[in-house]
Amino acid sequence: MTIRNIAIIAHVDHGKTTLVDALLRQSENFKAKAEEAKELIMDSNELERERGITIFSKNAAIQYKDTKINIVDTPGHADFGGEVERIMSMVDGVLLLVDAKEGPMPQTKFVLRKAIQAGHKAIVVINKIDKSGARPTWTLDQTFDLFIELGASDEQANFPVMYASALQGKAGSESDLSKMVSIQPLFDAILQHIPAPKVNIEKPLQMLTVNLSYDNYKGKIAIGRLYSGILKKGMQVAHINRFGAIAKGQLTAVMLFDGLQRVDVAEAQAGDIVAIAGI
Ligand code: GDP
Repeated sequence: MTIRNIAIIAHVDHGKTTLVDALLRQSENFKAKAEEAKELIMDSNELERERGITIFSKNAAIQYKDTKINIVDTPGHADFGGEVERIMSMVDGVLLLVDAKEGPMPQTKFVLRKAIQAGHKAIVVINKIDKSGARPTWTLDQTFDLFIELGASDEQANFPVMYASALQGKAGSESDLSKMVSIQPLFDAILQHIPAPKVNIEKPLQMLTVNLSYDNYKGKIAIGRLYSGILKKGMQVAHINRFGAIAKGQLTAVMLFDGLQRVDVAEAQAGDIVAIAGI
């Protein structure tokens, strides 16, 4: 299976949750068509909706064709400087989601600058083109100016653009809603424009932790990107802290993201975004 790791950048209310939801639904449709575990997947997501959990907190993973797309959320403001840099080290590209009426907002500058500094390519998604008063051309111009202001290279400023109505689950390369049928073009754009992670599974195990979480049964959970090697449940690992001190530990759980869930697996391959317990 191939992988894409992307971060999503958006001002609050520009439609991040709705877009991730649309991608998840479309992915379920593909799976249903392939008659794969249809009911199970639908059930688990419906349950999420019933419980009113907002789709997507920090990590989601969506399957499209033979590719797993890990989507990482970014904080909406600048108080999390260190976290934003770590997130950018975890991904190979970004989706910048912009409201077609409001245009890009200054609050997203900080995170976008970090993405540009990390050398990432962005796909700009101009959302809510169904809204009355939507001005996609103006929004595109504003977004381009923002990239220049933030020091984007020629290649970065020459970003691919997608137009979308996340609410209607549609996207396309032209800002014409009547020509759009589904969100699939956005999946294709991600596969086309965002590079797959460069990895070497022969090299020794190396993972960079980006976030910590907690699980009542598993204890402290570290989430990050596996740069090289293979992670296996039960294996002995060395944990190196920020001061360089080394401590040994044993992995009691290895997890991957699947939809909005974290699932236990026996092993994980380099390039993926993983969660581990036991350290
Ligand atoms: P987030 O804060 O970025 O996660 O934004 P949400 O996904 O929660 O969306 C904010 C509001 O915008 C909600 O009321 C959505 O229904 C609405 N919204 C999101 N996408 C679209 C869209 O494509 N068109 C329209 N008209 N509304 C949208």
